[in-house]
Amino acid sequence: MTIFGKILSKEIPAKFVYEDELCVAFHDVQPQAPVHILVIPRKPIGSLAQLGSEDQALLGHIMITIAKIARKQGLDPTGYRVVTNIGSDGGQSVGHLHFHILGGRQMSWPPG
Ligand code: 5GP
Repeated sequence: MTIFGKILSKEIPAKFVYEDELCVAFHDVQPQAPVHILVIPRKPIGSLAQLGSEDQALLGHIMITIAKIARKQGLDPTGYRVVTNIGSDGGQSVGHLHFHILGGRQMSWPPG
């Protein structure tokens, strides 16, 4: 089980900002921006690369939930970034699909 699996089962504490039957969101332990929230499915999917066609509705739900959370965090007026890292070149360090919501500062491009 990954560290996010343990957060889902409440074995490890996290600062939750949202929970429903399909996904949860909590603050990143090492924030890279004034707002840095992780949104993860309850289903243990390794990464975006492991999604199947059966996950279509789940991912649509997660995307809409991300927008809701960002709005609630006050990020709508200035914007924000949503990132998912995949595999080692992508910089993924936890093998459970997650989306970073980053906001509250100007983002740069290209990413490092
Ligand atoms: P990745 O590098 O896989 O895209 O992102 C993993 C993220 O999970 C990192 O930003 C890291 O700071 C965060 N993270 C790792 N362990 C924990 C933890 O135990 N609790 C929380 N809240 N975040 C974590």
